[in-house]
Amino acid sequence: MHAILIGAGVGGLTAALALSRRGVSVTVLERSPVLGEVGAGVQLGPNATRLLFDLGLESALRTAAFEPEAAEIRSGQTGALRLRNRLGARAVDRWGAPYLQIHRADLQKTLIQALEAAPGVGLRLGADVHDLRQDDTGVEVGLATGETLRGDIAIGCDGLRSEVRSRLFGKDAATFTGQVAWRAVVRADQLPMGLVRPVAAVWTGAGKHCVHYFVKSGRAVNFIGVVERDWRVESWSEVGSPEDLVADFAGWPEPVQAICRAAESPFRWALYDRPPLARWSVGRISLLGDACHPMLPFLAQGAAMAIEDAAVLAHKVAGAPDPVAALSAYEAARKPRTSRVQAASRFNARLFHLPGPAGAAAFAAAGLADLLTPGGAASRFDWLYGYKAP
Ligand SMILES: Cc1cc2nc3c(=O)[nH]c(=O)nc-3n(C[C@H](O)[C@H](O)[C@H](O)COP(=O)(O)OP(=O)(O)OC[C@H]3O[C@@H](n4cnc5c(N)ncnc54)[C@H](O)[C@@H]3O)c2cc1C
Repeated sequence: MHAILIGAGVGGLTAALALSRRGVSVTVLERSPVLGEVGAGVQLGPNATRLLFDLGLESALRTAAFEPEAAEIRSGQTGALRLRNRLGARAVDRWGAPYLQIHRADLQKTLIQALEAAPGVGLRLGADVHDLRQDDTGVEVGLATGETLRGDIAIGCDGLRSEVRSRLFGKDAATFTGQVAWRAVVRADQLPMGLVRPVAAVWTGAGKHCVHYFVKSGRAVNFIGVVERDWRVESWSEVGSPEDLVADFAGWPEPVQAICRAAESPFRWALYDRPPLARWSVGRISLLGDACHPMLPFLAQGAAMAIEDAAVLAHKVAGAPDPVAALSAYEAARKPRTSRVQAASRFNARLFHLPGPAGAAAFAAAGLADLLTPGGAASRFDWLYGYKAP
């Protein structure tokens, strides 16, 4: 079995490693001539860290990442605690793996180092995929240079604006959410000592919310602030004005304001919503990660879902006598779960932006439910973090 993976983001790199570990030979084709990573953090729930640890990455990830003691939701107006879910050792006890927060560059570096030592993996940079064909015996992937590669299956791991998805199913129906996400990474030593707590912090308010957490073993803080605004550029590389960021969170609790003041070159990203696809696969070609289930970032699970996809894909494909049936089985195993996570992310988008009394009431109801449920707040996340991909 030879798999061609199109795209070397978190999903493509993890899939390459997972397939190689199961004896499948892989070529990864990445459009960019260099594997630079945007300066941003990513949260990895226990559902994702468990799988990355299974691939042998525990020590490297633990060294580079930060392990928060809890996730806390607070009012952006008063600072009052609304919900708290203990993480740290509690996450390991309950879900069998830690909750980690990591800079994307560190995650990418960890995956690439592991791939360099993995048998049967070729990574080609500057390989822009322009054409895809298949017949009963295999797939043909055409590059912009005119070169053609042949394999048994091809997987589009090519992100939000997937070329492979458009070729299989036509253009997607992306709808602007009316929300724009700020993102910035700030050095921890630029902030007053002890001001930012070692938690995954979510601050909610009318029409806006923000999230911050440590990365780089506590040496930097990743910030994401989401505001409702009509500005529609969906890109990781759009620079915003530091003054506008400070103004958006003026009057919010001091940790939020201090991070915003320290953010020297914040970026902006317009959030678009895309409904679940009816199908992911056609014959020997399928999709993985944002290419098939792009999601809003309000459950911090986009990369985690790509990592789960990678593990399930490798499990279904390795040793399978019929590649078409294997890709159908992969899709059937993954689609219900990723659709549920897409819906839960969308729900949080509304919850986090409810105005004062409505927001307070919604969180009070959730807090009461937590008190009445065995396992408390943690039990709300069992379906998400406790998932064991085969
Ligand atoms: C503000 C924000 C915060 C987020 N926070 C989190 C979080 O905390 N936790 C989490 O789990 N997720 C988070 N996410 C989501 C996460 O970033 C994505 O879900 C994840 O990166 C998707 O990985 P991927 O490999 O599917 O796609 P990508 O990382 O987008 O990779 C796609 C790759 O394909 C390449 N490519 C594209 N077209 C071609 C082509 N034609 N030929 C060859 N190569 C091609 C691209 O260059 C790219 O390298 C967040 C997202 C946003 C916007």
